[in-house]
Amino acid sequence: MIDRSTVWPYDERGEPRDFVYQRYGHPTGTAAERALGELEGGETLLFGSGTTAATACALALGGPGSTVALAEGAYFGTGVMLRELERWGLRVVEFDQTRPPPPAEVVWVESPANPTLTSPAWEALRAHGARVVCDATLSTPVYLRALDRGADVVLHSATKYLTGHHDALIGALVTRDRALLERLRELRTRLGLGVAPDAAFALQQGLETLEVRMRRHTETATELARRLEAHPRVVRVRYPGFAGVISFDVEGDPLPIETATTLIRNQTSLGGVVSSIESRHRWEGDRIPRGLLRLSVGLEDVDALWADLEAALGS
Ligand code: PLP
Repeated sequence: MIDRSTVWPYDERGEPRDFVYQRYGHPTGTAAERALGELEGGETLLFGSGTTAATACALALGGPGSTVALAEGAYFGTGVMLRELERWGLRVVEFDQTRPPPPAEVVWVESPANPTLTSPAWEALRAHGARVVCDATLSTPVYLRALDRGADVVLHSATKYLTGHHDALIGALVTRDRALLERLRELRTRLGLGVAPDAAFALQQGLETLEVRMRRHTETATELARRLEAHPRVVRVRYPGFAGVISFDVEGDPLPIETATTLIRNQTSLGGVVSSIESRHRWEGDRIPRGLLRLSVGLEDVDALWADLEAALGS
């Protein structure tokens, strides 16, 4: 259950017990960390958001004069955050993650990338020698155990599939590297980057249904991707074959389409039980095709979703 305490009493000798002060860690968070760690095959630390986790990771692995090679077409907020750190001496270069990375101390990939849905070239990553961070938000451990593939750290915006209900902002880092884990823990405590107990509890509950949700997202999205491919107004469909995110391009302005859906909500984010759609150009500018719509397929009935999309596409 949720323990919202911010402090716990010392023992009878005046010594700290397992939990002392919530910023250092709390029982609800520790239970959720254990559950996610088991799924990923590593040790987990939770953070106040995916972006907070990413920031801690950049601070732990990067530094003045070091270079982070970031997958282009990956979640744009990660690039924005890393560029904030350029003022403190970090260098950021973007690269095509389907090809070998350039020289860098840290290589930051996303599997698959949001919203371009490319996947990293794992063999080239393993051969590179840099520390590898893999954002596996869109795959979840149901479809990817990135530590087994060679990543040093797995990053999740657990705000998405891992919680699954658009009701908790939460991030996670998973690693098998003990020294790195302790450095990340230290940064979390010192900079106050931890997660609230309520959000950690939402993660515990989300993990209990993760596998069934992901299988259903995949089943429905596979069918919708197939139908979108055949639709005359759709010029390109990107779908990796698993999970629920599809990015498809239409000719012209996508706004009349995204605002015409009724079952599918016109809102940002992804990974929830409720489907959502939005054009990404308005947020990301010309790095994204103007007509690209990102559809996050929820758990609704496939034919009802298709009827909604078909009506919005206008045929
Ligand atoms: N990584 C990916 C792939 C994302 O899609 C997002 C958010 O959209 C983030 C990281 C950042 O997570 P949060 O919004 O929880 O800070």
